Amino acid sequence: MQYQRFVIEPEQQQGNLIYLNDAQHHYLRRVLRLSAGDRAVAITGKGKAWIVQLTPENAEILTAIEINTELPVTVTLLVSLPKQEVDEIVRCCTEIGVTTIVPVLSERTVLNPSANKLTRWQRIAEEAAEQSERAIVPALMQPLTLPEALSQYDSLQKHCYFCTARHNVPLLAEILPHQLTPQDSLVIATGCEGGWTEQEIRQAQEANFQLVSLGRRILRAVTAPIAVMSLAAAFSEAMTQEP
Ligand code: SAH
Repeated sequence: MQYQRFVIEPEQQQGNLIYLNDAQHHYLRRVLRLSAGDRAVAITGKGKAWIVQLTPENAEILTAIEINTELPVTVTLLVSLPKQEVDEIVRCCTEIGVTTIVPVLSERTVLNPSANKLTRWQRIAEEAAEQSERAIVPALMQPLTLPEALSQYDSLQKHCYFCTARHNVPLLAEILPHQLTPQDSLVIATGCEGGWTEQEIRQAQEANFQLVSLGRRILRAVTAPIAVMSLAAAFSEAMTQEP
């Protein structure tokens, strides 16, 4: 039986009850048309999930469930945002399995997102995580400049890659099967419409990010992070598949 899913804040769970807020009430009753006695799945977006039964006001926990849909690796995308279609990046990358999205303000980015935009993208990530039956909702971080992002994501503990079009550099698809092991943390940066400046590419190399290619074609700034996620998902899942 496929139950409808909804995301709660961890503190909404108290003992055997989940206290619903007005938005969740509306969503469950009016949008999903559920009523008292019906069941649904409540997820914290941080790895916990329960089958619940709706009561007139709240939801009662029936059983805890384990959701096993996450990638074997964590993937942080540093995305220098394009002017439009960021919704698509957030939605598609969440479906494929991204862990964290960091908006990066690079020299050629035009968009400096407002707090409203970030809230909107977090909401899209939540909806996409529900739809793809994920155990976690990816985090959308506050925007960082490229130097801030490069220093924050330390290449000593993580595999750090920097996607550049038009450079003669190894394919990400060649590198991942050799460098990836389960439970690894990947950090991968993609540029905006105008791409990276030569100075930014040098900064990335100095921060020990490895320059990588996604193939011979030039992908749009919206397509590149989605292509990156497909590769990370494909190789990490193939690596851990049981024979
Ligand atoms: N306007 C730039 C390209 C920008 S494409 C130019 O003409 O050179 C937007 C971003 O997507 C790039 O900065 C890069 O991070 C990524 N990207 C697109 N195609 C790529 C490819 N074939 N290999 C690696 N990265 C790519």
